[in-house]
Amino acid sequence: MIISIASGKGGTGKTTVAVSLASSLGQNRELSFFDCDVEEPNASFFLKPNITTSIPVLSPVPEINESKCTFCGQCAEICEYNALAVLKDQVMVFPELCHGCGGCQLLCPEGAIQEKGRRIGVIEHGDTNSIRFTQGILDVGQVLSPPLIREVKTTLKPESLNIIDAPPGTSCPTIESVKGSDYCVLVTEPTPFGLNDLEISVNVLKQLKIPYGVVLNRAGIGNDDVIHFCEKENIDILMEIPMDKNIAKAYSRGEVISETFPEFQDRFIRMFERIHNTSTS
Ligand code: SF4
Ligand code: SF4
Repeated sequence: MIISIASGKGGTGKTTVAVSLASSLGQNRELSFFDCDVEEPNASFFLKPNITTSIPVLSPVPEINESKCTFCGQCAEICEYNALAVLKDQVMVFPELCHGCGGCQLLCPEGAIQEKGRRIGVIEHGDTNSIRFTQGILDVGQVLSPPLIREVKTTLKPESLNIIDAPPGTSCPTIESVKGSDYCVLVTEPTPFGLNDLEISVNVLKQLKIPYGVVLNRAGIGNDDVIHFCEKENIDILMEIPMDKNIAKAYSRGEVISETFPEFQDRFIRMFERIHNTSTS
Protein backbone atom coordinates (compact mmCIF):
# COMPACT_ATOMS: atom_id res chain seq x y z
CA MET A 1 0.00 0.00 0.00
CA ILE A 2 1.25 3.49 -0.83
CA ILE A 3 0.06 6.47 1.24
CA SER A 4 1.26 9.92 0.25
CA ILE A 5 1.11 12.96 2.50
CA ALA A 6 0.67 16.24 0.65
CA SER A 7 -0.42 19.81 1.19
CA GLY A 8 -1.35 22.68 -1.06
CA LYS A 9 1.30 24.89 0.49
CA GLY A 10 4.36 24.67 2.72
CA GLY A 11 4.27 25.11 6.48
CA THR A 12 0.99 23.27 7.12
CA GLY A 13 2.53 20.41 9.12
CA LYS A 14 2.76 17.88 6.29
CA THR A 15 6.04 16.38 7.47
CA THR A 16 4.78 16.30 11.08
CA VAL A 17 1.91 14.11 9.93
CA ALA A 18 4.08 11.95 7.65
CA VAL A 19 6.72 11.12 10.26
CA SER A 20 4.15 10.64 13.04
CA LEU A 21 2.17 8.22 10.90
CA ALA A 22 5.35 6.33 9.99
CA SER A 23 6.59 6.20 13.55
CA SER A 24 3.22 5.00 14.88
CA LEU A 25 2.87 2.25 12.28
CA GLY A 26 6.49 1.22 11.79
CA GLN A 27 6.73 -0.58 15.11
CA ASN A 28 4.36 -3.37 14.09
CA ARG A 29 4.80 -3.75 10.36
CA GLU A 30 7.34 -3.51 7.58
CA LEU A 31 7.34 0.13 6.53
CA SER A 32 9.31 2.26 4.11
CA PHE A 33 9.42 6.04 4.21
CA PHE A 34 10.23 8.19 1.17
CA ASP A 35 11.03 11.87 1.47
CA CYS A 36 10.14 13.13 -2.02
CA ASP A 37 10.28 16.79 -0.97
CA VAL A 38 13.65 16.79 -2.74
CA GLU A 39 14.13 20.57 -2.74
CA GLU A 40 13.85 20.73 1.04
CA PRO A 41 13.89 17.22 2.51
CA ASN A 42 13.52 17.44 6.29
CA ALA A 43 11.92 14.17 7.44
CA SER A 44 15.37 12.91 8.43
CA PHE A 45 15.58 15.61 11.14
CA PHE A 46 12.67 13.89 12.86
CA LEU A 47 13.15 10.19 12.05
CA LYS A 48 16.96 10.41 12.43
CA PRO A 49 17.80 7.48 10.18
CA ASN A 50 21.26 5.98 10.00
CA ILE A 51 22.15 6.79 6.37
CA THR A 52 24.15 3.97 4.84
CA THR A 53 24.29 4.72 1.11
CA SER A 54 24.32 7.81 -1.07
CA ILE A 55 23.87 7.39 -4.82
CA PRO A 56 24.24 10.22 -7.36
CA VAL A 57 21.34 10.59 -9.78
CA LEU A 58 22.04 11.59 -13.37
CA SER A 59 19.63 13.01 -15.91
CA PRO A 60 20.41 12.55 -19.63
CA VAL A 61 21.24 15.65 -21.66
CA PRO A 62 22.11 15.77 -25.37
CA GLU A 63 25.67 16.07 -26.58
CA ILE A 64 26.06 17.24 -30.17
CA ASN A 65 28.61 15.76 -32.53
CA GLU A 66 29.17 18.82 -34.69
CA SER A 67 31.16 16.87 -37.28
CA LYS A 68 27.92 15.03 -38.16
CA CYS A 69 25.51 17.93 -37.58
CA THR A 70 24.11 19.80 -40.60
CA PHE A 71 22.54 22.51 -38.38
CA CYS A 72 19.12 21.73 -39.81
CA GLY A 73 17.41 22.99 -36.63
CA GLN A 74 14.97 20.07 -36.23
CA CYS A 75 16.18 19.25 -32.71
CA ALA A 76 15.52 22.80 -31.48
CA GLU A 77 12.08 22.77 -33.11
CA ILE A 78 10.99 19.64 -31.29
CA CYS A 79 12.35 20.63 -27.88
CA GLU A 80 9.40 21.90 -25.86
CA TYR A 81 11.67 23.25 -23.16
CA ASN A 82 13.90 25.50 -25.32
CA ALA A 83 16.94 23.55 -24.20
CA LEU A 84 18.51 23.70 -27.66
CA ALA A 85 19.33 26.60 -29.99
CA VAL A 86 20.70 25.96 -33.47
CA LEU A 87 22.82 28.73 -34.98
CA LYS A 88 24.43 28.86 -38.42
CA ASP A 89 27.37 26.71 -37.40
CA GLN A 90 26.75 25.78 -33.78
CA VAL A 91 24.19 23.98 -31.61
CA MET A 92 23.87 25.40 -28.11
CA VAL A 93 22.64 23.10 -25.33
CA PHE A 94 21.16 24.50 -22.10
CA PRO A 95 21.40 21.51 -19.75
CA GLU A 96 19.45 23.12 -16.91
CA LEU A 97 16.39 23.41 -19.19
CA CYS A 98 16.62 19.87 -20.57
CA HIS A 99 14.02 17.40 -19.23
CA GLY A 100 15.90 14.39 -20.60
CA CYS A 101 12.99 13.24 -22.80
CA GLY A 102 15.30 11.96 -25.55
CA GLY A 103 13.11 13.44 -28.32
CA CYS A 104 15.91 15.35 -30.00
CA GLN A 105 18.12 12.28 -30.22
CA LEU A 106 15.31 10.23 -31.76
CA LEU A 107 14.54 12.91 -34.31
CA CYS A 108 18.02 13.93 -35.45
CA PRO A 109 18.32 12.75 -39.10
CA GLU A 110 22.13 12.67 -38.93
CA GLY A 111 22.53 10.65 -35.73
CA ALA A 112 24.51 13.60 -34.40
CA ILE A 113 23.09 13.54 -30.88
CA GLN A 114 24.26 11.34 -28.04
CA GLU A 115 23.18 11.48 -24.42
CA LYS A 116 25.46 12.09 -21.48
CA GLY A 117 24.55 12.04 -17.82
CA ARG A 118 24.32 15.24 -15.81
CA ARG A 119 24.17 14.99 -12.04
CA ILE A 120 21.01 16.50 -10.53
CA GLY A 121 21.14 15.20 -6.96
CA VAL A 122 21.55 12.16 -4.74
CA ILE A 123 19.39 9.46 -3.24
CA GLU A 124 20.18 8.42 0.30
CA HIS A 125 19.10 5.16 1.89
CA GLY A 126 19.17 4.27 5.56
CA ASP A 127 17.20 2.84 8.46
CA THR A 128 15.75 3.81 11.77
CA ASN A 129 15.08 1.04 14.29
CA SER A 130 11.87 0.15 12.51
CA ILE A 131 11.65 2.05 9.21
CA ARG A 132 13.43 1.73 5.88
CA PHE A 133 14.24 5.33 4.93
CA THR A 134 14.92 6.89 1.52
CA GLN A 135 15.28 10.55 0.59
CA GLY A 136 16.16 12.50 -2.52
CA ILE A 137 18.25 15.63 -2.28
CA LEU A 138 18.29 17.95 -5.28
CA ASP A 139 21.65 19.61 -5.91
CA VAL A 140 21.80 23.37 -5.29
CA GLY A 141 21.02 25.23 -8.51
CA GLN A 142 19.09 22.33 -10.07
CA VAL A 143 15.43 22.86 -10.85
CA LEU A 144 14.32 19.55 -12.30
CA SER A 145 13.02 17.60 -9.36
CA PRO A 146 10.62 15.12 -11.11
CA PRO A 147 13.42 12.86 -12.49
CA LEU A 148 14.95 12.68 -8.99
CA ILE A 149 11.55 11.95 -7.44
CA ARG A 150 11.02 9.16 -9.99
CA GLU A 151 14.34 7.65 -8.91
CA VAL A 152 13.42 7.87 -5.22
CA LYS A 153 10.20 5.99 -5.98
CA THR A 154 11.92 3.15 -7.83
CA THR A 155 12.60 1.55 -4.43
CA LEU A 156 8.91 1.49 -3.40
CA LYS A 157 7.72 -1.92 -2.28
CA PRO A 158 3.96 -1.96 -3.05
CA GLU A 159 3.53 -5.29 -1.23
CA SER A 160 4.44 -3.60 2.09
CA LEU A 161 3.47 -0.24 3.55
CA ASN A 162 5.05 2.86 1.98
CA ILE A 163 4.66 6.43 3.17
CA ILE A 164 5.61 9.27 0.83
CA ASP A 165 6.25 12.79 2.09
CA ALA A 166 5.38 14.81 -1.05
CA PRO A 167 6.57 18.34 -1.84
CA PRO A 168 4.08 21.11 -1.03
CA GLY A 169 1.99 22.60 -3.83
CA THR A 170 0.18 21.13 -6.79
CA SER A 171 2.77 21.37 -9.56
CA CYS A 172 4.79 18.66 -11.35
CA PRO A 173 6.94 17.55 -8.34
CA THR A 174 3.83 16.98 -6.21
CA ILE A 175 2.04 15.12 -8.98
CA GLU A 176 5.11 12.97 -9.62
CA SER A 177 5.26 12.15 -5.90
CA VAL A 178 1.61 11.24 -5.33
CA LYS A 179 1.11 9.46 -8.67
CA GLY A 180 0.43 5.77 -8.08
CA SER A 181 -0.62 6.23 -4.44
CA ASP A 182 -3.49 4.20 -3.03
CA TYR A 183 -4.46 7.12 -0.82
CA CYS A 184 -3.39 10.71 -0.28
CA VAL A 185 -3.62 12.56 3.02
CA LEU A 186 -4.02 16.30 2.48
CA VAL A 187 -2.77 18.36 5.40
CA THR A 188 -4.26 21.81 5.72
CA GLU A 189 -5.11 24.45 8.29
CA PRO A 190 -8.39 26.25 8.98
CA THR A 191 -7.56 29.54 7.27
CA PRO A 192 -8.64 31.12 3.97
CA PHE A 193 -5.22 30.21 2.49
CA GLY A 194 -5.58 26.65 3.75
CA LEU A 195 -9.02 26.36 2.15
CA ASN A 196 -7.88 27.82 -1.15
CA ASP A 197 -4.92 25.44 -1.41
CA LEU A 198 -7.06 22.50 -0.31
CA GLU A 199 -9.59 23.17 -3.07
CA ILE A 200 -6.79 23.14 -5.68
CA SER A 201 -5.26 19.94 -4.24
CA VAL A 202 -8.65 18.21 -4.22
CA ASN A 203 -9.14 19.03 -7.90
CA VAL A 204 -5.72 17.59 -8.75
CA LEU A 205 -6.41 14.35 -6.83
CA LYS A 206 -9.80 13.98 -8.47
CA GLN A 207 -8.10 14.14 -11.86
CA LEU A 208 -5.51 11.59 -10.75
CA LYS A 209 -8.33 9.39 -9.36
CA ILE A 210 -6.54 8.98 -6.02
CA PRO A 211 -8.74 8.64 -2.89
CA TYR A 212 -8.01 11.31 -0.31
CA GLY A 213 -8.87 12.64 3.11
CA VAL A 214 -7.92 15.68 5.17
CA VAL A 215 -5.90 16.26 8.32
CA LEU A 216 -6.74 19.61 9.84
CA ASN A 217 -3.66 20.97 11.57
CA ARG A 218 -3.68 23.88 14.02
CA ALA A 219 -7.40 23.33 14.58
CA GLY A 220 -8.86 26.19 16.58
CA ILE A 221 -7.30 29.06 14.66
CA GLY A 222 -9.09 30.73 11.77
CA ASN A 223 -12.64 29.69 10.89
CA ASP A 224 -14.80 26.68 10.01
CA ASP A 225 -14.73 27.12 6.22
CA VAL A 226 -12.45 24.10 5.66
CA ILE A 227 -14.81 21.91 7.71
CA HIS A 228 -17.83 23.19 5.77
CA PHE A 229 -16.01 22.58 2.47
CA CYS A 230 -15.19 18.99 3.51
CA GLU A 231 -18.82 18.40 4.55
CA LYS A 232 -20.10 19.78 1.26
CA GLU A 233 -17.64 17.71 -0.78
CA ASN A 234 -18.10 14.60 1.37
CA ILE A 235 -14.38 14.53 2.24
CA ASP A 236 -13.27 12.58 5.32
CA ILE A 237 -11.59 14.68 7.99
CA LEU A 238 -9.22 12.01 9.26
CA MET A 239 -7.81 13.90 12.22
CA GLU A 240 -7.69 17.31 13.82
CA ILE A 241 -4.44 18.38 15.46
CA PRO A 242 -5.08 21.28 17.82
CA MET A 243 -3.13 24.52 17.84
CA ASP A 244 -0.95 23.83 20.86
CA LYS A 245 2.30 25.55 21.74
CA ASN A 246 3.66 22.31 23.26
CA ILE A 247 3.28 20.60 19.88
CA ALA A 248 4.98 23.55 18.17
CA LYS A 249 7.85 23.40 20.68
CA ALA A 250 8.26 19.64 20.17
CA TYR A 251 8.36 20.21 16.40
CA SER A 252 11.02 22.90 16.78
CA ARG A 253 13.13 20.43 18.80
CA GLY A 254 12.92 17.89 15.94
CA GLU A 255 10.61 15.56 17.86
CA VAL A 256 7.94 13.30 16.37
CA ILE A 257 4.65 14.28 18.00
CA SER A 258 3.33 10.71 18.19
CA GLU A 259 6.45 9.84 20.22
CA THR A 260 6.43 12.92 22.44
CA PHE A 261 2.66 12.75 23.02
CA PRO A 262 1.78 9.03 23.13
CA GLU A 263 -1.97 9.67 22.80
CA PHE A 264 -1.23 10.68 19.22
CA GLN A 265 0.17 7.23 18.46
CA ASP A 266 -3.29 5.67 18.86
CA ARG A 267 -4.85 8.44 16.85
CA PHE A 268 -2.45 7.89 13.94
CA ILE A 269 -3.00 4.12 14.07
CA ARG A 270 -6.77 4.67 13.96
CA MET A 271 -6.28 7.09 11.08
CA PHE A 272 -4.37 4.43 9.16
CA GLU A 273 -7.11 1.86 9.82
CA ARG A 274 -9.66 4.29 8.41
CA ILE A 275 -7.50 4.92 5.34
CA HIS A 276 -6.94 1.19 4.87
CA ASN A 277 -10.68 0.47 5.07
CA THR A 278 -11.44 3.25 2.59
CA SER A 279 -8.86 2.23 0.02
CA THR A 280 -9.69 -1.49 0.17
CA SER A 281 -13.50 -1.14 0.19
S1 SF4 B 1 18.68 17.70 -35.60
FE1 SF4 B 1 20.72 16.80 -35.62
S2 SF4 B 1 21.61 17.55 -37.50
FE2 SF4 B 1 19.83 18.84 -37.11
S3 SF4 B 1 20.68 20.59 -35.98
FE3 SF4 B 1 20.02 19.09 -34.45
S4 SF4 B 1 21.86 17.89 -34.04
FE4 SF4 B 1 22.24 18.96 -35.94
S1 SF4 C 1 16.24 15.58 -24.38
FE1 SF4 C 1 14.19 16.48 -24.66
S2 SF4 C 1 14.21 18.23 -23.27
FE2 SF4 C 1 16.34 17.65 -23.53
S3 SF4 C 1 17.07 18.91 -25.22
FE3 SF4 C 1 16.34 16.99 -26.12
S4 SF4 C 1 14.23 17.40 -26.73
FE4 SF4 C 1 14.84 19.01 -25.29
